[in-house]
Amino acid sequence: MTIVVKIGGAAGNARDAVLDDLAARRDFLVVHGGSERVDRLGEALGRPAQYYTSPSGVVSRRSDPAHLEVLVLALAGAVQTEIVAALLARGVRAIGLSGVDAGLLLARRKEGAREVVDGHVVRLSDDRSGTIERVDAALLGSLTDLGLVPVIGPPAVSEGGEILNVDADRVAAEVAGAVGAEALLLLTNVNGLLRDRSDPASRISRVARDGIEQVLPLAAGRMKKKVLAAQAALRAGVGRVVIAPSQGPNPVDRALAGDGTVFE
Ligand code: ADP
Repeated sequence: MTIVVKIGGAAGNARDAVLDDLAARRDFLVVHGGSERVDRLGEALGRPAQYYTSPSGVVSRRSDPAHLEVLVLALAGAVQTEIVAALLARGVRAIGLSGVDAGLLLARRKEGAREVVDGHVVRLSDDRSGTIERVDAALLGSLTDLGLVPVIGPPAVSEGGEILNVDADRVAAEVAGAVGAEALLLLTNVNGLLRDRSDPASRISRVARDGIEQVLPLAAGRMKKKVLAAQAALRAGVGRVVIAPSQGPNPVDRALAGDGTVFE
């Protein structure tokens, strides 16, 4: 059974427990984010992160060239290298790939991305974010045939060689679809999709694929991206998607057993 495990990068995620659990498994691919790390590096470099809200209420990182550079340094540089090293230490032959490597994640630059400023919709200037159009599944298959475990993260690349920011949850969904994964686990810093964000006990345990639109309004900010990623993955043929906590013992086994919000 091939599973794709997305390791969250916001504060409060527990990476080591996830990697410990993965080390005991075969047939998995890792996708990572790293938002907290990008924010920290941006602060240190005097380029603090900026976020914007789209007209549909989705919160995204601003990715003009100066911020994109920070993102590449933090994600493809630091976070990915550390995850690969941590997996190697656990006996897993991991290999890090950004979406740019060998053109793994081919994307098209988003035209006309828009944000809401003081109630008005305005065009984003100099945005370098993209929509993934193709994942090179054959490349991933060649690596896994060699016994390597791909560790994949943003950015992606355009046909013309332009580096583009893409959302890590969306990367996970596209990768899971491309490799025909049975399950996609979106591990994060909360228990799952909550009815009430301030109440961890309000988790929705199961969402049928045709009920996703109904729960979408419950998800604010970046949780909305996870729910949309779950929808995209199911549409791409992934058997089931679980938004689950990265904290606590055996987070991967628990998520596979349904301890989270299961979309199927
Ligand atoms: P990660 O980096 O782990 O992928 P994100 O910060 O991207 O995490 O997304 C998880 C966050 O989404 C939560 O910490 C929470 O603040 C926010 N969120 C918004 N709406 C909800 C909801 N309905 N249920 C759970 N979390 C929510």
